[in-house]
Amino acid sequence: MTRVAPPLTERTAPFWTSGADGLLRILRCDGCGHYQHPPQPVCPACHCASLSWQPVSGRGSVWSWTVNRYQWIPSMPPPYVVAEIELAEQPGLRLLTNLVDADPASLRVGTEVTVCFAKAGDAFVPLFRPLADDDQG
Ligand SMILES: [Zn+2]
Repeated sequence: MTRVAPPLTERTAPFWTSGADGLLRILRCDGCGHYQHPPQPVCPACHCASLSWQPVSGRGSVWSWTVNRYQWIPSMPPPYVVAEIELAEQPGLRLLTNLVDADPASLRVGTEVTVCFAKAGDAFVPLFRPLADDDQG
């Protein structure tokens, strides 16, 4: 599967290129510590404009998902899982992404997942896969 490279803008490039070193980074408020995604110019919690990209654990859980069965993009043959993942760092901090290495029949709300990355152009697209037994710790 060849992914379409996302456009890298001044605001989003740190998110899309973060995976180059294997870490997921999320924009965090320097004032109150609130994480936000997608990235915005001010903190939605305290309106502070001092924000920085901080590495997160890459762990989360399935908040919702669906199985796409339509071929929207020639290089992405269906079926594949589109999921909203809630990151472990903060309730409500969610990413829309794809789940890989996942049997849709075994997915549940709350299934624990971990990040992995797929190179697409200059981007490292964050994807998630169900946590395996050897991912503990
Ligand atoms: Zn804040």
